[in-house]
Amino acid sequence: MKVRFVGPLGTVTGSCTLLEHDGMEFLVDCGLEQELPGPGWNQAPWPFDPARLRFVLLTHAHADHCGLLPALYKRGFKGFVYCTEETAKIAEIMLKNSAGLSNSEFTEADVDAIRWRWPHKNVLGGYHPMAHDLFVQFFRTAHVLGAVAIRVLWGDRERGQQKSIIFSGDLGSDVEDQEGLPFLRHRMDVPPSDFAVLESTYGSKTREPAEQGLGPRQERLKHLVEKIMLEKGTLLIPAFSLGRVQDLLFDVHWLVASEPECYADLSLRLDAPLAQALSPVIARGLDRTESNGKGKVRPLWLGKQIFRWLGLDDTDPADIDRANDICRLTLGLPAVHPDAAARGNEIAQAWPLLLSSPTDSSNGRLHARQETGAKIVIATSGMGDHGRSAQWLKALLKDPKSVIAFSGYCAASSIGGKLQELVNLPAPERRRLRGEIPWGNGDATSTRDIQATLAVLPGYSAHADQAGLAAWTFSQYRGVASAAGRTVFIQHGNEQDRVALSRALTEHGRKLGVPVQCIRPMADDGFYDLDADCPVASAA
Ligand SMILES: [Zn+2]
Repeated sequence: MKVRFVGPLGTVTGSCTLLEHDGMEFLVDCGLEQELPGPGWNQAPWPFDPARLRFVLLTHAHADHCGLLPALYKRGFKGFVYCTEETAKIAEIMLKNSAGLSNSEFTEADVDAIRWRWPHKNVLGGYHPMAHDLFVQFFRTAHVLGAVAIRVLWGDRERGQQKSIIFSGDLGSDVEDQEGLPFLRHRMDVPPSDFAVLESTYGSKTREPAEQGLGPRQERLKHLVEKIMLEKGTLLIPAFSLGRVQDLLFDVHWLVASEPECYADLSLRLDAPLAQALSPVIARGLDRTESNGKGKVRPLWLGKQIFRWLGLDDTDPADIDRANDICRLTLGLPAVHPDAAARGNEIAQAWPLLLSSPTDSSNGRLHARQETGAKIVIATSGMGDHGRSAQWLKALLKDPKSVIAFSGYCAASSIGGKLQELVNLPAPERRRLRGEIPWGNGDATSTRDIQATLAVLPGYSAHADQAGLAAWTFSQYRGVASAAGRTVFIQHGNEQDRVALSRALTEHGRKLGVPVQCIRPMADDGFYDLDADCPVASAA
């Protein structure tokens, strides 16, 4: 088996890795390079022939991992894309949404050409055969619904010649029994492999543990909501469609259900067509269970935190029905087990349907008559550059009664990135600045005219920090300290993050007595021979 890191390196987008085994070529992920000044990787002649690829293994549905799949088929690929069922359904909706954008290079018909395949049984941890001596395994990563790390195994097991490499995909930070985000089940420990390919998005970042968790998030959200309730203003939260919107909806519902009488006049509006299109798929995924092989049925993607927070028992069928209804109500879908409504603690019993319909963004209000009262608007996109949130921002930035709270990463060059620079600057001080927020078409809002309160809502990240990446790499697998790979290729991060993570892992492994070799692949590297454990000598 040989591996070559063909997608852009030293950056967090455009994930793509080529593998070759016995003359058979395949990819792990085929992602779009985003925020590019020019065509770059997305349109470049790729260092492989799509027609020769046998299949693609896909870790999850974010565009920087799957966004070039339509282009791959257009350029001659005819094989299957293997992933979880949830990833396939979510990616299909998200790619079709991209196809509808004016600058898209592919159509819905191109997305329809993708040949998805997913395992029906033993989705997580099971051995899925790909060729006579080639298997893959999926392990949940707590990043987004459906996201998995993918382990590839090859060679003769009976002769003790089987080898393996595991691809982390993107890793979330939620670990067992300490899940902080509502709709993610914990990250699975992975078996030790010979090689690991590790993402490094936050390879140099250390996050305060207090940033994660329902309590700290609720406190910040409550503070901002009280401000708009007092002034009958609007709280705008730009958010990403997959994961972030659903987590924010849960927190708003929690707030209202915990003190219904305080928030009776608050209305909620979801202006996020893509998130609304994803809602039924997400609700089905959260409802999904799988046997663990011991006759015990467990939720596949929904963690125990929902049950703990809401006073529900995850072994009681009626309580499980109630938990699933709470997920559905949160996403604007009707409850299907009305008999279970009296289960759980007071918050569970008071869980409201705030969005009247997942597909009708104009009607998502607590009470229609309160159009002029305080309202929360959750709108996409998360960086404020496109879509509905850009329109809301343009309308609200000059309004002193409005609060704008960013819930996730914003590139420095994005509208959200520019506004985040002003978060700690009070409105009177902004008047001294000369900058402006450009809306395209020559239209702009002068910085000095921004009257809205600007804020950040931390605690929603579904990316592990340096300690989380190290914890995934070194786990007590079946009671023994082990490394995800003896050799770790650091991928999918800016150079400073790759360097910092590489150092941290080397040090961590040394302390644990589980030494690892970290390699930062470079753009002009050729293949690495995994059987010989060394780079393939170039023909020159
Ligand atoms: Zn991702």
